[in-house]
Amino acid sequence: MMSKDWIDRDVARVWHGFTQMATYADNEPVIVERAEGHYLIGTDGRRYLDAISSLWVTTLGHRVPELDAALIEQLGRVAHSTLLGNGSKVVIEFAEALGEVVPIPDPHFMFASDGAAAVEQALKIAFQYWTNQGVRGRTSYLAFGGAYHGDTVGSLSLGADGFGSAIFDPLRFPVLRAPGFDASDCMAIAADMIRTDSERLAAVVVEPYVQGAAGVKIHDPAGFKVLQQACDETGVLLICDEVATGFGRTGTMFASQRCELTPDIMTLGKGITGGYLPMSVTVSNRKVHDAFLGEDLSEKTLYHGHSYGGNALAAAIALRHLRLLSEWSVLDNVAKRSAQLQQLLSEKVSLLSIVRDVRVAGLMCGVELEEKHKRGRRVCATAVRSGVLLRPLGDVIVIVPLLTSTEEEIETIVDVLADAISQEEGH
Ligand SMILES: *Cc1c(COP(=O)(O)O)cnc(C)c1O
Repeated sequence: MMSKDWIDRDVARVWHGFTQMATYADNEPVIVERAEGHYLIGTDGRRYLDAISSLWVTTLGHRVPELDAALIEQLGRVAHSTLLGNGSKVVIEFAEALGEVVPIPDPHFMFASDGAAAVEQALKIAFQYWTNQGVRGRTSYLAFGGAYHGDTVGSLSLGADGFGSAIFDPLRFPVLRAPGFDASDCMAIAADMIRTDSERLAAVVVEPYVQGAAGVKIHDPAGFKVLQQACDETGVLLICDEVATGFGRTGTMFASQRCELTPDIMTLGKGITGGYLPMSVTVSNRKVHDAFLGEDLSEKTLYHGHSYGGNALAAAIALRHLRLLSEWSVLDNVAKRSAQLQQLLSEKVSLLSIVRDVRVAGLMCGVELEEKHKRGRRVCATAVRSGVLLRPLGDVIVIVPLLTSTEEEIETIVDVLADAISQEEGH
């Protein structure tokens, strides 16, 4: 069947996220049929280099034999059993392995399926952490301008305006809002706000090092220290949302490490299973976890849990994936390819007349163009036609290559992008 037929069938039954369905078909969507390594293959038989890591979730590539094998092996045991009140062997093994690498000593892991759900869990945990100790009034959160933490109502409340969130203002609860990463003094301002309002703050929520969905906005890692200090002084919990930055994406295993942050709570998702299965997790330190200990069935219990939290198939893949990250020295490759990407972009892209800014953090990159209606969309469409799958965030072309990208693939991505932007310059 031709790709056109698949698009018609798609439109007839599937509602795509963040997508205007009235115009979806006009934007030449790729209908993926299968994948080979770093390439997605459409129903039209064309191959597309995955330069967005399937929206930031895929790490090592598609159809990684080792991950496929881990999945099949786990299928021979059990696919899923609930974590509510009972345990799962492979989840324990994964939690132990993850506990060795997260920047939180003596961590406890509460699993869910999506990043937004991990953020919701973090919000509820931070809130109840205080009520369990009889502290009243610590019911607010501090978040940053430009922040993105997911699309459920709680995570949307933490997030900044934009991304269509303002429509939901009547549902969003208010938060204290520090400036975004564009303001170089945003951390100092946030620290002041924490000290001034600590009595009503349950927690601060921040994307360490990089605000991804804001268009890859990078903040000097050294600047985060004042945030940690303000939290330490006031007891306000520090929640680091590493759904996007975790698992090597920005060059260190976790961005908190680069920023020298020791969060009380951390959220992970996206790359946790290498892009294979939905899994997310809220990580709590000992202090937070132990504030929920009490009598059986007592009010100190965290009454929260998702049906598929701690899915065994996802845990088996996540465990194998975590080991592959070190077995394959993936972080070394991220460092090399990131330096190469930065170099090539400054040679071939930065000087193009409509390019306003180029920002690179590990293998997460934003190329910001001068504003023009649908410009980002046109540039990406041109790249897709040339076989490189890109997707814009407004006027920012977001490049998120696979962590195992080769030298040649990075060259291809930059060449195709430079060409696509040059074509747009005449527009
Ligand atoms: C993507 C993202 C989320 C939401 O994750 P979903 O799995 O899409 O719900 C939350 N926080 C950050 C920083 C993200 O980039």
